[in-house]
Amino acid sequence: MQDVNPSDATDLVAEVPEGVSDDVVAAVSAAASALEPWRALSGPARAEHLYRWAAVIGERQEALAQVLSREVGKPIGEARGEVGRCVMILRYYAGEAVRAYGDMIPAQTAGALQFTLREPLGVVALITPWNFPIAIPVWKAAPALAFGNTVVLKPAEASSQVATALAETAAAAGLPAGVFNVVLGSGAVIGQDLIGAADVRAVSFTGSSRIGAAVAAQAAGRNIRYQTEMGGKNVAIVMPDADIRQAALLTAAGAMRYAGQKCTATSRVVVAREIEEQFLGELRAQIQSLPLGPVGEATAAVGPVISETSRSSIRAVLDGVAGDPYYVNAVPTTAAFDKGFWVAPTVYRNVAADSVLAQQELFGPVLAEFTADDLDHAIALANDTPYGLSASLFTRDLRAALRYIDRIHAGLVRVNGDTTGVDPHAPFGGTKGSSSGSREQGSAAREFYTEIKTVQVNP
Ligand code: NAD
Repeated sequence: MQDVNPSDATDLVAEVPEGVSDDVVAAVSAAASALEPWRALSGPARAEHLYRWAAVIGERQEALAQVLSREVGKPIGEARGEVGRCVMILRYYAGEAVRAYGDMIPAQTAGALQFTLREPLGVVALITPWNFPIAIPVWKAAPALAFGNTVVLKPAEASSQVATALAETAAAAGLPAGVFNVVLGSGAVIGQDLIGAADVRAVSFTGSSRIGAAVAAQAAGRNIRYQTEMGGKNVAIVMPDADIRQAALLTAAGAMRYAGQKCTATSRVVVAREIEEQFLGELRAQIQSLPLGPVGEATAAVGPVISETSRSSIRAVLDGVAGDPYYVNAVPTTAAFDKGFWVAPTVYRNVAADSVLAQQELFGPVLAEFTADDLDHAIALANDTPYGLSASLFTRDLRAALRYIDRIHAGLVRVNGDTTGVDPHAPFGGTKGSSSGSREQGSAAREFYTEIKTVQVNP
């Protein structure tokens, strides 16, 4: 496969090798061989490895950000932030490596000691999307390794170069051979081989809901542990008492930065009728102030979408929408925009709740607006999708905030913040069609990457 720069399709980033089944066999076998010595290390010893890995990524931050930005079309400022986040994630899980706590449980037998141990699962497959091509592999690998597992990463084809650069940092940090492995190629071929490999005991997947369902079915068929973090149709709700300017600024950023290609991007906004005109006017101004630009430009906020396939599928959906958009921030016609996969930031107003714009994840810079009569109506509209990843409410009313927190169907819930972003030490994941129910990051990752052994020692 040819991997091109989404800002300039004539810029060939890499010829990605199409991995075959034997590559999966070799990677899983390396991970299986490395497992016993790695799990036998003490938590503090594994922590030292992760601290060294964090340090190497920190030293290479600029080079990694440049590769990332060019390969997946992420504006360079955000690419730098993503690499910096990996350093934080690794340092956090280095600390967690010494916290594989179990419980002490009083036994029925007098004098007996009963407790639980948290043990690694074994070899874990990590299957990741292209949109956070270094943060997502690291937020899966760091806890997996901290708790004594070894891993095989299968990145999206479109982010193979970043994954290779990440593997180079692991080697430079002196991680033992076989602990962190990468296989490149098509998900339909080697992704399935990886989940099917006998030594693989768990799979952590992030990607689209369609592929996630297939991954879950295959893993369940083998009775191995799985987690699937998938798509979203994330929503911001703006109440009449909100700080309108702040709500518009954060909604514009959540919807349009990185061309709407974050799983947590704001793709719907529900606005109270009383302030609709005022909010929409402010929203236009805020979207207009986000510069479109080739991703290497320091000022670029909105880049291209990942591929021609993605651009044409977004266009096909928009062409099928009845009526004109409310607002389009046109792509400049200068030469700098000639060769990239550009989609203009677009807002639709008064969208019907059952329309494709309300229900389907487009993964582009497209925002659907809805009018609400009151808070309960707004929450009902917000909940009316198959997804449940991220939601935000803008209000100064504490009672409204508490009611929304109680009623909203989302795994990530914000008040007066945008729908994107998460602290690396806080649990992350969705509900309904966005997730199979487990959580990543924070202390929640320990639940996924360890299993419990209950021990009783009798006198
Ligand atoms: P995708 O589902 O097309 O691919 C994800 C990964 O699955 C890739 O590595 C791909 O090669 C692999 N794959 C494809 N077919 C497979 C199969 N049959 N078996 C095993 N693996 C297979 O997703 P994408 O286009 O790379 O990423 C965009 C999607 O990811 C969006 O839907 C976005 O919402 C979602 N996403 C979710 C989160 C989250 O945490 N919820 C985070 C980022 C992205």
